[in-house]
Amino acid sequence: MGKFEDLRKQMIEYQMAARGLDDSLVLNAVAAVPREAFVPTDLVEFAYQDSPLPIAASQTISQPYIVALMTAALQLKPGDRVLEVGTGSGYAAAILAELVAEVYTIERHKILADTARERLKSLGYNNVNVLYGDGTLGWPEHAPFDAIIVAAGGPAVPATLKEQLAPGGRLVIPVGTTLQTQKLLRVVRVSVDDYRHEDLGDVRFVPLIGAAGWEDEAAQMP
Ligand code: SAM
Repeated sequence: MGKFEDLRKQMIEYQMAARGLDDSLVLNAVAAVPREAFVPTDLVEFAYQDSPLPIAASQTISQPYIVALMTAALQLKPGDRVLEVGTGSGYAAAILAELVAEVYTIERHKILADTARERLKSLGYNNVNVLYGDGTLGWPEHAPFDAIIVAAGGPAVPATLKEQLAPGGRLVIPVGTTLQTQKLLRVVRVSVDDYRHEDLGDVRFVPLIGAAGWEDEAAQMP
């Protein structure tokens, strides 16, 4: 077994299974994705560390455990169509692509969207569609989605994303009243206008910036 496969196995055992994450489909998907291909080249040796890592545009590739936890919370089925807001490195999109038919992912930094698109293509993920834009608006042309995952923390659940859920669809999103900390929420569209909200615990994400998120960083400068 190669060095990275070994590290990946240890990550799954000590960071995920040991914390009670027992969704074998999700753990198998994590086992199939080479996380080392999604981190900056000078940080490859830290790819399997139990933490987020910096990527371009002052953003992060999320902590592996949080990616697995959020993915499990989506309760995915193989035929599902999933929207991700916050492509970042493309790592979580690759995990989703291992589990479902079609993945749509949106990133507001062009450099990240372009790099992730190329990276996912070169790794053979042909069921991932990457869009450069504001993910708080969703992707109306491809809605409704069976599941939506938001990888950045916003001030509230964007109504547009709720509306783009199929009946029975699940939305997992960090929401908080400050930029620093959030609660991870799962919103299930029980029927056309009935949504059930669940609190999955405290998390810490980079801010969701856009029409239904926080204002642009520049606008927050004093
Ligand atoms: N899922 C990513 C991965 O696997 O590498 C990690 C994403 S990082 C924690 C959050 C990302 O959300 C950042 O790349 C950030 O630019 C992006 N983001 C923030 N607000 C956004 C918005 N309104 N639309 C799209 N992307 C957004």
